[in-house]
Amino acid sequence: MPKAPSTFKAPWAPVRSKQDRERDNDMNRRKRHPWRNWYKLAAWKRIRALRLSADPLCVMCLAEGNTMAATVVDHIEPHRGNREMFFSYANTQSLCETHHNRDKQRLEASGETQSPPASAEPGACR
Ligand SMILES: [Zn+2]
Repeated sequence: MPKAPSTFKAPWAPVRSKQDRERDNDMNRRKRHPWRNWYKLAAWKRIRALRLSADPLCVMCLAEGNTMAATVVDHIEPHRGNREMFFSYANTQSLCETHHNRDKQRLEASGETQSPPASAEPGACR
């Protein structure tokens, strides 16, 4: 027996390309999370560059005894849209992409957080 199509699309409905849908999704995400735009600000770019030059290796890899270049600057304590926490250098750490995308997201989802590393200030001695 023939199955009905899973979604009905009216023939008069405008045809939206994948790019149109992605653009709309981006726009909605920006509306829901206006802090996403903070990543484009010079203040954040400066914090990011400072952190990566101070700690060029992933701190989580180091804790596991491995050496991996850091490419992501992560907020140790999730900022959740708090501007002060977002732009706090002390609240950042260098991570590799694997640790940021896998382990850190899992930690945040579980509600756990890490304590800031000992050298949280720029120029701090190790
Ligand atoms: Zn790592």
